Amino acid sequence: MQSVVCAGHTLIVSPHLDDAVLSCGRFLATHEQATVMTVLAGMPSGELPLTDYDSSCGFESCTQAMRTRWQEDERALACLAAKHLHLDVLDSQYAALPAVRALAARLEPLLLDPQWDMVAVPMGLFHCDHECVSDACMTVLARAWLQSPAQWVVFEDVPYRRRWGVMQARLAAWFDQGWILTPVALEPQRASSNAGQVVVGQADVDEKQDVNREPGAGVGRVSDDVEWVDDRSALRAKQKALACYASQLHTLGLAHGGDQDAPERFWSVTPR
Ligand SMILES: [Zn+2]
Repeated sequence: MQSVVCAGHTLIVSPHLDDAVLSCGRFLATHEQATVMTVLAGMPSGELPLTDYDSSCGFESCTQAMRTRWQEDERALACLAAKHLHLDVLDSQYAALPAVRALAARLEPLLLDPQWDMVAVPMGLFHCDHECVSDACMTVLARAWLQSPAQWVVFEDVPYRRRWGVMQARLAAWFDQGWILTPVALEPQRASSNAGQVVVGQADVDEKQDVNREPGAGVGRVSDDVEWVDDRSALRAKQKALACYASQLHTLGLAHGGDQDAPERFWSVTPR
């Protein structure tokens, strides 16, 4: 399998306040210098009636729900030593989603910020919010393929990837839109992580500027003496972080040993 080394700052694009940890929590536990940008984290108007979902989570108002989710997300990402960035776009339960082009314009300067070495975006499975955020990210990448200094990868949306046929349908749609997706392994970062007491071995990572950026190429290479991270430690760190999303755990139906505990998967993306 083609390997990608995360050589520095990573931006993970999260549709909702929990998706990055659900889909990339182990990655976050083994990488420093990550920032999670949650797109649909806007505060709804206090005038809005309580939605069914927020009611099922035990909230009495949508503003209480969002304030609680902000706090839960900050705690969860602190567990993983990741930074958080909450955008003010509204979740589809509070307002119509923005047009993909409009959202892309909003995201473009954030996604193309030269501080990122890697940008991880959702595949956009099943949920209209995930699909909208994913499509907006890919609209930016399509415009800026040659300009973006970062390596872009796509992560599978947990737990929606387990739904009948959704992965296959999305992969087919990406192909029709001109994108090739290839599974990649994200190697553990050289630096030790304090998030899960994860012990990481020495990785002889090539300098990024030496890397071939042709389609299909990774960000870097590692030497043969890489010691793999203790995946159980990373999983424990992820579970601890996920527990911070207490208001959503029940409604999401995250049973112990569910998809959130299964290996996370990432794909490289290149134009065909
Ligand atoms: Zn979500």
